[in-house]
Order: sequence, then structure tokens, then C-alpha cells
Amino acid sequence: MIKQAPLVMIPGPTPVAESIRQAIAIQTYGHTYGGFVAIYKECLAGLKQIFQADHIIVIGGAGTLAMEMGLINTVPAGEDILVVSHGVFGDRFALIANALGIKADVLSCPAGQAVPLAVIEEKLQLKKYKAITVTHVDTSTGTMAQVKEIGRLASRYNTLYIVDGVCASAAVPETMNDFGIDVVVTTCQKAFGTPPGLAMVAFSNRALACRDELGSVRAYYSDWKNWLPIMENPALYFSTPPVNLIAALREAVRIVLAEGLEERYQRHNRIAASMRAGLSAIGLELATSRDDLAPTLSVVKYPEGVEDTAFRAKMEQYDVFVAGGIGELKGKGFRIGHMGNICINEIVITLSAVERALSSNGFAVSPGAAVGAAWETWQSY
Ligand SMILES: *Cc1c(COP(=O)(O)O)cnc(C)c1O
Repeated sequence: MIKQAPLVMIPGPTPVAESIRQAIAIQTYGHTYGGFVAIYKECLAGLKQIFQADHIIVIGGAGTLAMEMGLINTVPAGEDILVVSHGVFGDRFALIANALGIKADVLSCPAGQAVPLAVIEEKLQLKKYKAITVTHVDTSTGTMAQVKEIGRLASRYNTLYIVDGVCASAAVPETMNDFGIDVVVTTCQKAFGTPPGLAMVAFSNRALACRDELGSVRAYYSDWKNWLPIMENPALYFSTPPVNLIAALREAVRIVLAEGLEERYQRHNRIAASMRAGLSAIGLELATSRDDLAPTLSVVKYPEGVEDTAFRAKMEQYDVFVAGGIGELKGKGFRIGHMGNICINEIVITLSAVERALSSNGFAVSPGAAVGAAWETWQSY
């Protein structure tokens, strides 16, 4: 049978737009060659604008490297940090802190809910923390944190504010000045829609002052000080950047700015509303509380009798990939990424595959019910 490329609707990597895929195919310039220097510079300048960042570092790696860089450059071993965790990725900050000899107090809550602001404030009153870490959107539970409100608390208690933006950046407002964020750690394969392979860290002058106060850090490749001169002038060498991927990210950044940030955030809200109208029309429920939903993904509970492996095998057969549950939701639900450079077409195709896969697994669905509801919401949004 003739097959088109499958639709990858997992919470990262996300579908790669044709112009981004083509951008990778540029000649692999020398990394200090003028043509590439201009590409790197444009990419970094666009990102600074998107985040309202004082500084930005983009290097080969992934989101987890960015998280590690965020901590190792600002918090010395032996200091205390407060980790607000809404799932697997929130907890990851605590694991990284452990590895670095940083003491992490973790605030958690039931899966799919958010830690109340009052609980965070109580902690901040009790102890002086060097930094507070928050996952903007935790991809395991679908929970979106109140990043702006937590920023006010961080500022009131004079604590450095580190945000994991991996599943939010370029889809949800995450402007550093407006929200009082000192460090955003993120990556390229989620809402930027670039193939994986880059770690990105945006930070404030205040965060850089923390790095300076540390003197030296127990890292070399991850040391901001080694990278900042390269980000200022990419004609200098420290370690070879992934030339072709930077060209792809430059194209992704162009797409974001050409669409417009406000328009992009609104498109994500509209997509999420349409997806959820479709899911709810066939009786599917989300694992995330209504107030804490993120526009970038949906974490869906399996209805009685539908089994994880069988359901996702059917989805694959219909050429649509969704992700299984992780953490507390392992085996109990599936996750649909709906972020980046997608639109109503991808939503409709995904919902159609969900209808068919549920139906093949013995769950009664009237054909087109989810698709129709999504379409109606999209039209009337
Ligand atoms: C995907 C993800 C990460 C990890 O990113 P990698 O690129 O896989 O290292 C971290 N945090 C969040 C919120 C994520 O969604």
C-alpha cells in the first residue's frame, strides 16, 4: 500500500514544516565561515526578541542539557532550591540538582493539578532559596504552571526564577521581562518545530551576575562563560555547533516572527479548543484539571476497556503517532502533542485516527463525531 509520511503528533518532536526541513539541506559551511555566522546571528537575535532575553545561548544538545546548564551556572553546590513539580519533568530538576550537589525541596501535587500559589509562598516564607524552578508545561501531566504569578512570588522573596519552557516556548507567552523570569531553559523540537538536537538557554543580567559570583563552575562544555563570547561573535571558536540544525532553527524563528507572537499564541489556543471539542464529543476525558490545561498538548484518559498498546498500535497503522502516558499516567492514558507549525488539518486527521483506533478496539464511536465537533469549534472560535 502507498504510504505518506506518518503524522507525528507526540509532544515533541513535532511535525517539521517543509521550509525547515529544506533549511537543513544547506551546504555544511565551516562553522566560523561568514555565511554561517550571519545565519547564527540572525537566529540568536530572533530568539532574544521572542524571549525578551538579555542573553541567549544555543548549542548542540537537548532540553535536558539546557536544564542542567540553567542550574550549574547559577546555583552553587550545597545551596537550597525550591522545585515546583507538576510531573516527570518537574522532578527532573530535582534529579539534576542531586547530581550537582544542590539541595532540592520538591513541591508536588496530584497528577494533572497545579501546586497552589499559597503553598509555594508558604515554602518561600519558611526558607531562603537560591532559586525556584518551575516547568511551564509539564509534558507528563499536561499541567501548565501560573508562570506569571509565580514570577511575582520569586521577585517578592528575591529568589532567582528558572523556568523550563521546553513544552511552551513559542506557543505560550513566556516573556522574561514581563514575567520576571531569570532563566528560560528550552529546546527546538517542540513548539519551534525543528528536528531535535539543540539546547537553548535564555537568561537575564541578574542570572549572569549569579554566574559571575560563582567564580568557577564544575563544567566546561556547559559553562555559560565559554559560550557567551561565541554568541556575541559566532566567528570565534569554542566547540563546533550543529551548523545545519542552526540553519533549521533560524528558519523556525523566522516563521514564528512572521506569524507574529500574539497570532501564534492565539492559533495554539484555537487548536487546543478544537482538539478538545473533538475528544469530548466522543466521550474522552482529559487527565488535567480544567484550570491548568496547556494549549500545547492533551493528556487523555483511556475509556474503560481500551488497552494502551493495542490502541497505539492501531494509531500507528493509521499513520498517526501519539505518545503513551508517562509517570503516574503510564498505561492509563495517551498524549497528543498539538504545538508548533500545525493547523486544523493535523487535528482533523489525528481525531479521525483516534475515532478509528477506538472503534477497532471495541469502543463505540459514531464516525466523524470528533472530527465534526473539532471543525465546528475551529470555525466558530
Ligand atoms: C521534552 C521535555 C524535556 C526534555 O527535553 P529533551 O530535549 O528530551 O531533553 C524537558 N522538559 C519538558 C517540559 C519537556 O517537555
